Amino acid sequence: MDVEVCTLSGYEDVGRNMTAVRIDDEVIILDMGVSIQAISTYEREEGSTKILSSHQLMDIKAIPDDRKIDDWKNMVKAIVLGHGHYDHIAAVQFLAGKYKCPIIGSPYTLQVLKSILKDEDIKIPNKFMAVDLDDTIKISDNIKIELISMSHSTLQCAMVVVHTPKGIVLYANDFKFDNDPVLGEKPNYKRLNEIGKEGNLLVLIVECINGLVEGKTPSEKIARELLKEVLLETDTKGKAVFVTTFASNIARIKSAIEFGKKMGRKVVILGRSMFKFNEAAESLDLVNFSRDAEIIGYGGQRRRKLKEIDGNRGKYLVITTGSQGEPGSVLDKIVNKQLPFSFKEGDIVVFSCRTIPVPMNIANRDNLENALKLNKVRIFTNVHSSGHAGLEDIRDFITMVKPKNIIPSQGTRSMEDSVAKMAEGLGYKLGENIHLVSDGQRLKF
Ligand SMILES: [Zn+2]
Repeated sequence: MDVEVCTLSGYEDVGRNMTAVRIDDEVIILDMGVSIQAISTYEREEGSTKILSSHQLMDIKAIPDDRKIDDWKNMVKAIVLGHGHYDHIAAVQFLAGKYKCPIIGSPYTLQVLKSILKDEDIKIPNKFMAVDLDDTIKISDNIKIELISMSHSTLQCAMVVVHTPKGIVLYANDFKFDNDPVLGEKPNYKRLNEIGKEGNLLVLIVECINGLVEGKTPSEKIARELLKEVLLETDTKGKAVFVTTFASNIARIKSAIEFGKKMGRKVVILGRSMFKFNEAAESLDLVNFSRDAEIIGYGGQRRRKLKEIDGNRGKYLVITTGSQGEPGSVLDKIVNKQLPFSFKEGDIVVFSCRTIPVPMNIANRDNLENALKLNKVRIFTNVHSSGHAGLEDIRDFITMVKPKNIIPSQGTRSMEDSVAKMAEGLGYKLGENIHLVSDGQRLKF
C-alpha cells in the first residue's frame, strides 16, 4: 500500500493552503484556501478578481493550482477543512465542484463556509458533512477521518487525522497550545499523547508561521488582559473608542464586548466580515453577541449608526474592521471620509491584532495610522496574542506525537528552515525524515 502526499499549496509562503493525500486509489484533500494577499495585490493594481476564471486565479497565485492532481481527480473521496479561516476554506467555491465528494468540517467551519457562499451567491454541488470535534468518520474500508479539538484564533478548530492502514497523516494547520482560550476549545492533549504512544504517525504536516518566534505563544487570556488594561485604565471620557481585530477572532470580540459594557458604553459591531463570522457563530448558539451588542453589516444602517456615534462619541464602543488597514474596511473608509464619522483629538483606536508582516499590509497600516495621527487620535497597537504556535510549542508538539516524517508548511522558507533546524536537534534528519518541499511536490511514504 502506498501513501503519497501532494503538497499542492501553502508550502512556500503563508496562505492558500491545500494538500492531497493518496492512499492507493483513494484521495483525501485537506483545505482549499485563498491567498488574501494575492487577491488584494491584484485588485489594487488591476481591478476586481471577480471576473477572473479559476485558472486565472491560479496563475496570479490567489488559489491553489490543483491541476497538479488532475490524474487523481476521480479518486477524491472527501475534502476536509481544518478550520474556518479564508486561507483554508475560501477557495472551495472555485475548486470543490469538480470533485464528486462531500466537504467535511466542524459545524462552525462549515457554517462559515455557507455564510461565504451565501454572501457571494454561489452554489456548489458537494454535500456538507459536519463532524463534531473529537469524532471520527469512516470514509472507506481503508480511510477514516478524525477531527482533534485544537485552540487557534477562531472557533471549532481541528487538527485533522487521516487514518490509513499504513499509519496516520496528521495535519496541524493551524494551531496554538492555549489552555485558557477564553472561548472555544482547548487542545486535546490526551489524544495527541495517545498518538505519540501508539507510534503510528507516518507523516506530520505542521504550520511554521511562528517558526522564527522563539518561545511559547501566550494564551488568549493574556490578550484579554492587555485589552482590559487599555480599555478600563485609560481615561476615555467623552472620547470615541474603536477596537479593531480579525473578524474571525470571536474570543477577542467577546472580550471587547464585555469591557465595553464595563465602561458603561453601548457596544456596536460594524462591518461585513464581522457580520458573517458572527452570524455563523450565533446560528450554532456558540455565542449570543446580539444580546449585548448591535451588529451591523453594511449599507444605510451603518451610515446612520456612525452619524449617531459621531454626535455621541462618549457613549459607544465600536468593534470594527480595518485591523490591517485594508482598503474598504470601516476604519479605512472613515479616514477617507467615505462614512459619516470623523475622528477628533483624543479619540482612541485599539489595534487588537498584529500586522501580518507582508509589505502590502505594512503599507496599508502605515497609511491608516498616519491618517489617524493627523487627527490626533491615540493609537494602541499589538494588544494581541498570536493564534499560531511558537517554536517551543512546535518542539513540544513533535515530542508529544513522535512523527516518523515531518513536512513543515504554512511559512516562508526561513520560517520552515527554523522548524527543520529545531527538529534536527530532536534527532530528525533533513532530506531523510524532515522534508522541506515546494508547492506541487509529491512525496511517497
Ligand atoms: Zn488559521
